[in-house]
This record gives sequence, structure tokens and C-alpha cells, in this order.
Amino acid sequence: MKRRHLYLIALSLLLIVVYGCGIGREKDNSSQPFGPDTTDSLLSKVEQNSERTQEQAVLPKLPAASPVPEKQADPAPPATEPPKPSTGGKENRSPAEPKASPSVREQPPVPAAQAPQPSEPDKHKEKAKLSKPKPLPKQSGEVAAGKKTTRQSSGTSSQLTLSELRAKYPDSFRLKGSSKGKKVALTFDDGPDQRFTPQVLDVLKKYNVKATFFLVGYRAEANPAVVKRIAKEGHVIGNHSYNHPNFPKLPVTVFEQQINRTQNILSRLIGYEPKYIRPPYGAINEEQLQWAIKNQFLIVNWDVDSLDWKGLDAKQVSANILNHAHAGAIILQHSAGGDGQNLSGTIEALPGIIEKLQADGYELVTIPQLLNMSKSK
Ligand SMILES: [Zn+2]
Repeated sequence: MKRRHLYLIALSLLLIVVYGCGIGREKDNSSQPFGPDTTDSLLSKVEQNSERTQEQAVLPKLPAASPVPEKQADPAPPATEPPKPSTGGKENRSPAEPKASPSVREQPPVPAAQAPQPSEPDKHKEKAKLSKPKPLPKQSGEVAAGKKTTRQSSGTSSQLTLSELRAKYPDSFRLKGSSKGKKVALTFDDGPDQRFTPQVLDVLKKYNVKATFFLVGYRAEANPAVVKRIAKEGHVIGNHSYNHPNFPKLPVTVFEQQINRTQNILSRLIGYEPKYIRPPYGAINEEQLQWAIKNQFLIVNWDVDSLDWKGLDAKQVSANILNHAHAGAIILQHSAGGDGQNLSGTIEALPGIIEKLQADGYELVTIPQLLNMSKSK
């Protein structure tokens, strides 16, 4: 019996020990540090990703608010505007603004002085695109600024071409000024940067000529001193979007963000709200134009295109401008470019262009002077 008792006692103790260890193990498991947390983490990651996706969907093209280094900006070739051959200026031609975007390569180079092609109603070919700040998604649209873009619909119905929009809203969408009085306006897009814009300013200062600069918001943020210099030296500043998207491809709400964000940046630096908008590639749709009109903006494209964004040499840039200059002309050049884009042709050509235009009796004026309007809203 005793032996049996001892056996039972030993067995009981063994069970107790075994049971006790089991509990211990469970406790260990429950206290594992990464179990539940991991799950939570995964959930939060999923949520975060969703948010990111939504943000991207909402603001596809806006670069982060953070300043974009100039270099990045530089990479972007000058946004090109409408490729229009310039010359006479038939109203038909619509400017297309090319941007300098690294990605999109331009179309066939346009030789410098190209004779005006009478019938090119809205041909905007876009050329170069602006490079956007890194955060910017690629824009597929740059190239499209031309007809296609214009006609594309963002939603439903077919849209009016740029020529049709100009015809429908003649007071709010301009390509040139009055031919009365021998005036022309030099305009420089896609700046500011620290490489070419200061050189353009130096030349203008030397000749005491005032011009109009259509600035890109993110570049203005990155180069505030250059923006201030432009204004301080008597030039007029206009809004060229925040990061050079192809407007017709954007919902009107995003278009508004592009304009308003840039207005805020510029007005803080120069003390007034620019009245003029030059759409990247010269492209805009009717809904966006109506918003601009309602908000007291004037859309200003150009009718003489230097095509300088193509990296043309000084001789070609001069020919593209001088062969097509006329009273009331709005001349397009660039004061900043994209990656690898060389605007030295524009810098070198500028003195000669100014001298020749003045020798021919033209007065070089700003857009508000040419259109007899205010520079601010
Ligand atoms: Zn541009």
C-alpha cells in the first residue's frame, strides 16, 4: 500500500509539474511582443497606403510642398509653348506650349524661321516639357498640348479647340496685342532658375527693356530671390501653373489648385496678384477658362515662338523671332529649362534681338502695357 501511495503521490506531483509548465508556456506566448502589434502594423500600413493612393489620386501632379531644388527644376526643359511657327500671326495658329519635359521629346524640330503656315489652326505641338519637381508624376500630356489635348475631353463632351476658345472668348484669351502702335512684348516662360533667368535679367537690364515672366510655382518657391529680382527690376510676372501640367487633362478642381497655389507663392514674394495666366503648352479647356474669367484672370499665349526650348543656337532663335515679329506680337522665349536643356542660344541672341527690334522702330513693352491693362488682378 505504501508503495502504491507513494506511486500515486509521485504521479500527482508529475501531473502538477507538467500542468504548471503548460501554463507557463501559454503565458509566454501571450506575451510575445510582436503578435498583435504585427497585425496592427499591417493594418495600419494598409490604411496608410490607401491614404497615399487617395492623395495621389487627388493631387496627381502637385509636387510635394517642399521646395524643389533648382537643379531639379532645371532639368525641366523650358516648357515649351505652343509650337507655333510664328510669323505673322495669323490668329489661327495657336500656340502650343511645349514644356520641357525631359520625358517627352519634342516633335520634329522646327527650323528657325519658318514661314508662317497659314493654316495651322491650333497646332500646338508641344515640345519640350517642363520637368517637374520630383514628386511629379510624369505627365503624359506634355506632348499633347496640341490639338489633341485641346480637343480631348476630360469627361464627356467634346471640347473646343484653342482657336475656338479664342474666338468665343476674345477678351479673355489673347495671343497678341493691338497692331496700332509699334509694340512687341518679350515673354519668358518656365523660370525662375539660377542659371538662365539671371542671365536674361542681365541682358534686359543692360538695354533697359522690361519684359514679362511667366513663372512656375515650384520653381518660384525654390528661387525666391530671383522672383524678387524680376519684380524689382520692373518686369511683370504671370502665373504659369505650379508644376507645368497639361491643363486640359486635369479636373477643374486640380487646375484651380495649380493656379491658386502659384498665386499665393508669387503674391507673397512680389506683393501683388498676377492677372495673367499662361497655360503650359498654351493648353486649356473651356471649363478652366471660364473659371479663370470668373476669377479675373486673363489667359495670354503668344503668336511668335522662338522655339528656343529646342536648344537652338542664337542665330536660329533670332531668325524665329525677327522673321515673324510684327506690331502687337507676343514673343515666346524661356528663362529656364529642364534637365540638360540648353538655353544659351536664347541668352546669346537676346542682345541682337533687342537691338534689331528697336532699330526697326519697335517699342519693347510688358504684357500689361501691350494690352493696356493692369499687371495685377
Ligand atoms: Zn511653359
